[in-house]
Amino acid sequence: MRPCRICGGRSLETFLSLGDQPHCNRFLRADQLRDPEPAWPLDLCFCPDCALVQLGTTVDREIMFLDHPYVSGTTRTLPEHFRALAADIARRYSLGPDSLVVDVGSNDGTFLQGFRKLGARTLGVEPARKIAEIARAGGIETVEAFFGRDSAARIVASHGRARTITAAGVFFHIDDLDDFLDGVTELLEEDGVFIVQAMYLVDILDRTAFDAVYHEHLEYYSLHPLVKLFGRHGLEIVDVARKDIHGGSFILHAVREGRATASVREILALERGRGILSIATYREFAARVARIRTDLVGLLRRLKGEGKRIAAYGAPARGNTLLNYCGIGPDLIDYAAEKNDLKVGLYTPGMRIPVRHESEARADPPDCFLVLAWNFFDEFLKKEEEFVRGGGRFILPVPEPRIVP
Ligand SMILES: [Zn+2]
Repeated sequence: MRPCRICGGRSLETFLSLGDQPHCNRFLRADQLRDPEPAWPLDLCFCPDCALVQLGTTVDREIMFLDHPYVSGTTRTLPEHFRALAADIARRYSLGPDSLVVDVGSNDGTFLQGFRKLGARTLGVEPARKIAEIARAGGIETVEAFFGRDSAARIVASHGRARTITAAGVFFHIDDLDDFLDGVTELLEEDGVFIVQAMYLVDILDRTAFDAVYHEHLEYYSLHPLVKLFGRHGLEIVDVARKDIHGGSFILHAVREGRATASVREILALERGRGILSIATYREFAARVARIRTDLVGLLRRLKGEGKRIAAYGAPARGNTLLNYCGIGPDLIDYAAEKNDLKVGLYTPGMRIPVRHESEARADPPDCFLVLAWNFFDEFLKKEEEFVRGGGRFILPVPEPRIVP
């Protein structure tokens, strides 16, 4: 077993095995369907020494991120969230026209657009080539790189130091956390702020959101191990807030010198109360995950037996963990309806369900949609009023399978 990614401890305990799975964002072209797909174990482990929940295996980041197809701007929820967050940060830290904001894992530049409109200088860091091009086309200067000590030093030389560094939806992709935080402290102004948005372990546990587990997500953070990690790099977490985004996330602010607000103490207390320091909590979670598999497959088979046509709503990365773990393939799901053009026409990794444009589903709707991107369900429900009025139904897989409405 590998050592813990935060404390180096060697007592990791595996509590959930989701089987060998292909890379969840490696969608297949028709001509690749005959080829074997590379697959790696997808095992979730707990470190009893620092309480970090993490994967037991690391897939090379070049395999996972250079051709990444995820685009932040495709939903309505995320651009709105990022605009509000940028405005909040600019106000709290008095960002002016000279202030440099660096967004690590800047994707299509959605987050930085908000800062740019507020008048700050912006720079994106994004290793995925196609996505970096989209950002540049939108006017956001973007460095194609993985962030760390070396790339931070290059940015300091070319752009100077940053008043604000943001890492939204990326800090749990990092295998070498010390190298990443060395980069942060190299790049950050003395009184600058480092802001992390990440999915929150407590929400994953509460929602039985095991589909948040995939090879790109190496860590599943609670605040407890992060306090240790940041402290080691001379950074103090001074503020933390929970947000209902990506199925449950937190946003933390870390500075070199500051005083923690009550929010930090409150979250730490909540985590202790929720049992995040105990392996028993995770074993109980794993039992619920196994039950979802049995119940969901049973439900889909029953509907299929009644002659219902079922499609998947969305083809997000998280959906592939669920489909592959449960063994749900084209025998149960006709196709996945998706609006990201980078995925349309391809097949889902592992289960090989064809991905079609959502306009096709609208023209000829199925009886039921299995909602894979359930974290955006409120947004979908508004959009699909007509489908529901016509008798269409949604199947939500977590926290337990159910049919809506
Ligand atoms: Zn540890």
